[in-house]
Amino acid sequence: MTADLDFNPPRPHPYPDEVTAGFWEAAQQRTLAIQQCGDCGTFMHYPSALCTNCQSENLGFSEVSGRGTVYSFAIVRHSFHPAFTPPYVIALIDLDDAPGVRMYTNIVDVDPEAVRIDMPVRVTFEDIGDGTLIPQFMPA
Ligand SMILES: [Zn+2]
Repeated sequence: MTADLDFNPPRPHPYPDEVTAGFWEAAQQRTLAIQQCGDCGTFMHYPSALCTNCQSENLGFSEVSGRGTVYSFAIVRHSFHPAFTPPYVIALIDLDDAPGVRMYTNIVDVDPEAVRIDMPVRVTFEDIGDGTLIPQFMPA
């Protein structure tokens, strides 16, 4: 008996709930939308049931430009999941127009060795196989 070397599982999918649905619905429209408090204006990501600044429940999602800069990053060189082929970049992005938001993401469409801290990036949306769009970032 031989092992199946063609094992190629699908990418993990998001499971939106009532708190995160606004983020994922915007992503399906190729828009980056960040949760924002309607009372104090604080931006939050990941989405929360209460404002992290004033505990308000008056929360919505605001469209942002999708532009930002790399705060930090790591190049993954070892396979941790068969759906993700190394090398790839995991990064923290500071969004230009959502102060205080630092977003985990991948940097795509770039040689991982070319990624740098403070590099300008912009959002792009990757179809993970069935039409589901995931926000990622690429060099601006
Ligand atoms: Zn607030």
